[in-house]
Amino acid sequence: MSLKHVLCGLRIDTGTTTTCTECDRALTECDPVTIRLHQNRQDIQWHLAACYCLGCVPISFEGLPSTLGTQLLCEGRIGIMQDGQTHQTWPVLVSPTIIETTRRTHVTYHATQEVSE
Ligand SMILES: [Zn+2]
Repeated sequence: MSLKHVLCGLRIDTGTTTTCTECDRALTECDPVTIRLHQNRQDIQWHLAACYCLGCVPISFEGLPSTLGTQLLCEGRIGIMQDGQTHQTWPVLVSPTIIETTRRTHVTYHATQEVSE
């Protein structure tokens, strides 16, 4: 599965809102967000590490808690998914654009184009 597929529709939280990891501001549908993901060495899964509002987006990885493996910053918007059968909702990432990654070797990521939903 490509990274773009992982990022687009990535489940951020449960319900209809999520909160900024830094300032606890509530974020909901259509709000711009930047998420930080990390991937452990020898792990194929990306883990959601943080979700930032516009005011709290880290400029770089410096100053962030260091983890083994790869970190990724990705900006996008919040969309709300609903399971028509169970009526559960959850916020997801839409229109993801990768803005920075600590992975410098063997993979080059290109920013994804804005896609219409
Ligand atoms: Zn914030």
